[in-house]
Amino acid sequence: MKQKELTSRLMHIVGEEGVILNPADQETYVNDWLGKAHGRTVAVVRPRNTTEVSAVMRLCHQSHTPVVPQGGNTGMSGGATPDLSGAQVVLSLNRMKRIHDVDPVNNTLTADAGVILAEIQQAARKVGRYFPLSLGAEGSCTIGGNLATNAGGTGVLRYGNTRDLTLGLEVVLPDGRVWNGLRALRKDNTGYDLKDLFIGSEGSLGIITGVVLKLFAAPAGRITAWVGVQNLANVVALLNRLQADCGPRLSAFEMMSAPSLSLVTTQLEAHVSPLKKIYPYYALIELADTRLAGLQDMLQTGLSAAIEEGLIDDCVVAMSEAQSVSMWKLREGISLAQVKAGKAVKHDIALPISGLASFVAEADQAVLTDFPGLPIINFGHIGDGNLHYNVLLPLDVAPEDYKEKTTGLNKRIHDLVAQFNGSISAEHGVGTLRRDELRRYKSTVEMDLMIAIKRALDPNQLMNPGKLL
Ligand SMILES: Cc1cc2nc3c(=O)[nH]c(=O)nc-3n(C[C@H](O)[C@H](O)[C@H](O)COP(=O)(O)OP(=O)(O)OC[C@H]3O[C@@H](n4cnc5c(N)ncnc54)[C@H](O)[C@@H]3O)c2cc1C
Repeated sequence: MKQKELTSRLMHIVGEEGVILNPADQETYVNDWLGKAHGRTVAVVRPRNTTEVSAVMRLCHQSHTPVVPQGGNTGMSGGATPDLSGAQVVLSLNRMKRIHDVDPVNNTLTADAGVILAEIQQAARKVGRYFPLSLGAEGSCTIGGNLATNAGGTGVLRYGNTRDLTLGLEVVLPDGRVWNGLRALRKDNTGYDLKDLFIGSEGSLGIITGVVLKLFAAPAGRITAWVGVQNLANVVALLNRLQADCGPRLSAFEMMSAPSLSLVTTQLEAHVSPLKKIYPYYALIELADTRLAGLQDMLQTGLSAAIEEGLIDDCVVAMSEAQSVSMWKLREGISLAQVKAGKAVKHDIALPISGLASFVAEADQAVLTDFPGLPIINFGHIGDGNLHYNVLLPLDVAPEDYKEKTTGLNKRIHDLVAQFNGSISAEHGVGTLRRDELRRYKSTVEMDLMIAIKRALDPNQLMNPGKLL
């Protein structure tokens, strides 16, 4: 099918305002926010509902046109960017923004895939409930993108990742058929759990168009503390101690190394450490519950015991919501501070929590020996065993040097991750960034199974080609 005929049939389906053809208007859809992935597209198509998505997919199936699904385009792995051929259609869900149902009795929320995460949180709050998925991009990312990447964030320790928060899905298959699995059930043993195939599939199997999410009792408030620690083994011991003392009330446990904190306080205005002295590691701890009574005492008792045991050196407990917010600003500011300071070679890795301290000791030594002088920015959702173990290169690094160092560092760090039985992608997905490395670290059997599933659902290889597999 000629390009002109394709775009005019797309306009017929979604209306003229739903198709973007002007290259200047396509800019934000064909480049990623990190400035690392760049592409071109025949057209950006923005359907308004599932029927339109289905018709677009049927047309692309008939015309053998590859499709790149896109939500908020905040992904970190290049998964939502088309390639440079100019032959792919970008299918954006950003006009599918309806919240269909919020059911506080069943504790569920049913929404279109294009709804922004912060709007989902807000809709839950309006009925006195809580949706716990929370990440730095929540004002721009969509729930469909969260599902497609099985996003993690700061609430995983207590509530799990996006997969754990999902009860039902609606998906448009590559040939345009619609699977309506929008079931609001907590028990449903009627065969293979198809929704789990699509969650984390990064747009490679179909377009997620709708979702039923779990809601939870709303916490009455939170108590936040900032802690200075001498080494990572003690951070892990503190995590274990607070898990035992506070049970499910421990809602977040984040870690930042001294260089990560220093990067934020020097690069960003109004970001100040709550502790005067510098410690090698910091933990940001949060307790939350449906009743606030006793929560502060519980945290203070746990921290006092940890000081007596020599696990921590110093701590501050936030006395107001404003203090709590400024502690979280330090953790959330790291991504931006990195962008300002240099070119980060990023590693979004997961490890068994018991292996974290040994892993970091070996990784630090490896970087120090093989790549001397490069700052290591190590932070993460340590309560889930998720480290963002990044190495900073100068802003003016030459492209060939950047490429060579990135390849070398990735191999060195990821080989070590494999040795510790970890994962090379904890929460950001594979996209184009980790696609070639995936083959190196997954077994042949696992790759064969994944390829078989892809062939069964997308025999013409039209869904997000070049990503993940
Ligand atoms: C400041 C900042 C902080 C971040 N922090 C975190 C964090 O803590 N944890 C975390 O997990 N991530 C984090 N991210 C990464 C990102 O926000 C998540 O990956 C998010 O889930 C992506 O959602 P999106 O709507 O932007 O998806 P996009 O970037 O548009 O797409 C991501 C992938 O999903 C596919 N996709 C999108 N929508 C659909 C759909 N409806 N159907 C099928 N496939 C689809 C795309 O093809 C692509 O492969 C952060 C990003 C930023 C900018």
